[in-house]
Amino acid sequence: MEDKDEGRILQEMIEKHKPKSDYLASLNIRVGNNDHHEVVAAMKEFGKKVLFLTGTRAMRNYGFLDKYLKLFENQGFEVMHYDSISANPTLKQMEEGIDVAREFKPDFIFALGGGSVIDTAKVVSVGISGKPWDFVEKRAEISNAIPIVASSSTSGTGSHISAYAVATNTDTLEKKTLKHPLLLPKLSIADLDIVKHMPSSVIASTGFDVLCHAAEVYTRKDCTPEAEEFCTRALQLIREHLVASYNGDSLSNKVGMVYADIYAGIALNLVGTHVPHAISHPISARFPNVNHGQALADVFAETTKKMIEQGSPELNKKFEHISELLGGSSDFVRTILNYKKLLDFETPKRFSREECELIYLDTIGYRKPSVDRSPVGLTKSEVRDIIYTSLQKK
Ligand code: NDP
Ligand code: MN
Repeated sequence: MEDKDEGRILQEMIEKHKPKSDYLASLNIRVGNNDHHEVVAAMKEFGKKVLFLTGTRAMRNYGFLDKYLKLFENQGFEVMHYDSISANPTLKQMEEGIDVAREFKPDFIFALGGGSVIDTAKVVSVGISGKPWDFVEKRAEISNAIPIVASSSTSGTGSHISAYAVATNTDTLEKKTLKHPLLLPKLSIADLDIVKHMPSSVIASTGFDVLCHAAEVYTRKDCTPEAEEFCTRALQLIREHLVASYNGDSLSNKVGMVYADIYAGIALNLVGTHVPHAISHPISARFPNVNHGQALADVFAETTKKMIEQGSPELNKKFEHISELLGGSSDFVRTILNYKKLLDFETPKRFSREECELIYLDTIGYRKPSVDRSPVGLTKSEVRDIIYTSLQKK
């Protein structure tokens, strides 16, 4: 597949649907390869003082941190770098970033990393004008944000092209989502030169996240024809490129997943997720060593199996259709189990009965609004069954 072809198809789809959507109209996507110099030049329109966010290791180890620091210096930017950001980033890390931003007063933020770094940038961007958890809990309204340029090093969360941020509050042990149009990055970058360094475990977990975004959006009752179109393209690309990307190093497979991430992220932003994501956040909130994709892989098959058992003919036709788009038979659960096998997700994280109970209580507690978006009405005891069957230590 030619990168330029997929870029053109994506732009055509955005053009077609943007008259109806402020969100699609404000997307500014740049997929490049080793064009760091041009990327930095493009940032000049946002000002000269940049708060540069990365994670702790990968961008430093592969030389991208130094490369960008040098380019910023050469092109006359004033830079402050902050990198205390882990996977499943915490509100505390974000608040430290906010303190740095308050003092430095950047014109804009450059986030270079996976969803964890980009989500941190978003919370920092609004956190200088209010308490971030008040925004999450809707006790305060976002009215102001520092502009963000986001380069996604994973494929991915779609965070670089979405208005969502996800944060873990380690005091309340909750992982929650914030969504606001001001969180959408002003420039969204995917750089193949960076993305190609993802280790296979990160390709698998972030790729499974993309698959869940597309499948959950597609099966929501309120999925729109536009979102369906973006999901369909994402699922076709996942079929072609996810397992191949996991198994090898062909650049065209990485390109395919860069676009799958963007298509699914757009669909996610237009509609939203449901039960698998509802359960995955309590898992990672209480057990931060379980990454987002792993948490999804551990509960996705069992959740969708329950839905299909009770699904309307219309819903089950959707599951059959996406199963086929993913390259399987009409049996969706079997297709997912096969993906899990091919991506080495067969051994789930296992928890004690007490730990499963906490995950269950969080899911039907603070994640209830997301459970309620299930395409099939699930009782509390069905949600409990899904969690115990998927996660309890045998
Ligand atoms: P992370 O950003 O957590 O990164 C995972 C790991 O991969 C890190 O150790 C990171 O290193 C490493 N890494 C990242 N990129 C590369 C690369 N190119 N080469 C080598 N190593 C790399 O992963 P995700 O992108 O999956 O983000 C997950 C987070 O995003 C979760 O908190 C999840 O809930 C959230 N999320 C957000 C969404 C949104 O819409 N905003 C949607 C879905 C999920 P290092 O630690 O050094 O940075
Ligand atoms: Mn996700």
